[in-house]
Amino acid sequence: MEKFEQIFSVINNEATKLEENMPYLEGVLETLEGILDGKVALEVKDASKEDMRKAIQIAILKGMRKNTQPNHQMTPDTLGLLVSYLVEQFYEEKLASGTISIADLALGTGNLMFTVMNALEGKVQATGVEVDDLLIRLAAATADLTEQEIALYRQDSLEPLLVDPVDAIVCDLPVGYYPNEEIALDYELCAKEGMSYAHHLFIEQSINHTKEGGYLFLLIPAALFESEQAKDLHKFLKNHAWIQSVIQLPESLFSSRAHEKSILILQKQSKELKAPREVLLAKVPNMSNKQALAMFFEKVQMWKQNK
Ligand code: SAM
Repeated sequence: MEKFEQIFSVINNEATKLEENMPYLEGVLETLEGILDGKVALEVKDASKEDMRKAIQIAILKGMRKNTQPNHQMTPDTLGLLVSYLVEQFYEEKLASGTISIADLALGTGNLMFTVMNALEGKVQATGVEVDDLLIRLAAATADLTEQEIALYRQDSLEPLLVDPVDAIVCDLPVGYYPNEEIALDYELCAKEGMSYAHHLFIEQSINHTKEGGYLFLLIPAALFESEQAKDLHKFLKNHAWIQSVIQLPESLFSSRAHEKSILILQKQSKELKAPREVLLAKVPNMSNKQALAMFFEKVQMWKQNK
């Protein structure tokens, strides 16, 4: 068995035992906290941060499948790895000589953030905000077990945040209507009629918390620019950000058309900088097609050189 399978097996056995008294996902949390307190023995030698992250991720996924809740979604590794690659490309120079600050205002289990942090090997000062208590506790336990430092805030990210502007945002946006209409009034992207879209407000709040010139790597619904409120979003983006890239993801990664996502890369406007000459429009091929994938990476490289 590989190391991550051995770790998963320990977590899975404990969480299954606990299932008599609590849902499996809560059992996973109790097990992770038990490992940290020394109450659950985890005798897997020399496991890497990635082994630990992967094992926890599989256990969480199992828990989410057993007991489906609408906000319990985790960003899969394929997307996390793509986002990591893009962050590395956009911050190549900065990362060569130092660290960058990254925030995720919809942290969830932290899988997206920890995938990026593991890929960037200790070069990230991380902040995560999440409203769901169980998910943020899972993220906190994962951070401790993978020895990743992250500042965590459990709150509604659309309410005022005590987070200093960061170099970069990564975020798999929550999609749907935002229920707190009073808070929505604080946003330019508040709907003129009816309820506001949480994903629009999250884009605005993420830009609010990004430094001028900083990049945002957002997993957005593929139909983001097709809704009846898209005109307002376009107008807002024109005034505050430059669209760097829209990357379509393979349909095969999603269960249905309605769930399809794309990656939107924005740059917060700055007086000292200019908009890119050309927006990178690309489609990620099927991940099993190595040749096509290599061509995609080449396209990103070429765009970067001419930007
Ligand atoms: N990247 C995450 C991961 O890897 O686990 C998954 C993010 S999931 C698509 C969106 C997350 O946004 C959910 O965890 C949900 O609880 C959170 N969320 C939704 N509305 C929120 C709000 N107003 N403030 C903070 N978090 C919120």
